[in-house]
Amino acid sequence: MTIDLRSDTVTQPTAAMRAAMLAAEVGDDVYGEDPTVAKLQQRLADDLGFEAGLFVPSGTQSNLCGLLAHCQRGDEYLVGADAHTYKFEGGGAAVLGSIQPQPIPHAADGTLPLDALDAAVKPDDPHFARTRMLALENTWHGRVLPQGYVIEAAAWARSRGLGVHLDGARLFNAAVASSKSARELAAPFDSVSVCLSKGLGAPVGSVLVGSSELIKSAKRWRKMLGGGMRQSGILAAAGLYALDHHVARLADDHARAARLAQGLQDIAGIRVVAQHTNMVFIDVARERLRALDAHLRERGVRASIGYLPTVRLVTHLDIDDAGIERAVDAFRAFSG
Ligand SMILES: *Cc1c(COP(=O)(O)O)cnc(C)c1O
Repeated sequence: MTIDLRSDTVTQPTAAMRAAMLAAEVGDDVYGEDPTVAKLQQRLADDLGFEAGLFVPSGTQSNLCGLLAHCQRGDEYLVGADAHTYKFEGGGAAVLGSIQPQPIPHAADGTLPLDALDAAVKPDDPHFARTRMLALENTWHGRVLPQGYVIEAAAWARSRGLGVHLDGARLFNAAVASSKSARELAAPFDSVSVCLSKGLGAPVGSVLVGSSELIKSAKRWRKMLGGGMRQSGILAAAGLYALDHHVARLADDHARAARLAQGLQDIAGIRVVAQHTNMVFIDVARERLRALDAHLRERGVRASIGYLPTVRLVTHLDIDDAGIERAVDAFRAFSG
């Protein structure tokens, strides 16, 4: 079997997850009649401390529904220059929402310095877009944002009259790694997007949580974006199963990522740049990247090569201890 370390999105639904999907009670969710979708939405809203939730097909749509619920045409949001909601969502906020992103360079720990944020807020003047929202991301390229910073940044945003959104695609990785509850990490925000199809191992779906009012608006946008689904309880059942069975085990993914980083660290020609939660980033000379990709594929190992400035390796539900050792051996053979 391939050791696929490209992303934690590649997981196969387990047999037990498929059984939960098969058994799901369903209805037409556009009519608000799918009990399993309703249960998932309420479950995440309750767990994270919000009034309501909205099940959507992807994290991209979840973030976009959140942005559209916070901002009007001609508004702008402050966002990390290397954040998913800015860089990796096809420019959707600008294309579909007429919302201008104001990208802010990240500090090394992923935070957006408060002085840079403060300097980016526009005065109320017809020359400028109206600054309406701050978007943060946790984890960011695997890094857990310092919670003290998150609290400070959210308080600052409120003091400037801005809404605060969290792209929490991997919020549960952050919670497990920091031994804080997801609820505590989510508390400073007005809206939070969580992915079920990353480390949690569900095949499809994200949930946006927020106030009833915000979710009502997001639901209108979801329909407009084509995300109103019918008997989607069959998908929501996978999410509920994942929340029950796949959260605590994220610690195993983090331990395996640490072991992978350790195994790679003394291999010539490879520099381990960082390891955080379930991600490892390595530097390999640019001219060797294509050869590395071919070498790994031949040995049944996949890595994310050429997509980010560094090679990214991500651990997940379908990577066991033996898989990590096989990956380390494949890298060592490349060097030798
Ligand atoms: C994966 C991801 C998303 C959403 O991606 P989809 O592929 O649209 O589900 C959003 N933010 C971050 C940080 C992600 O890693």
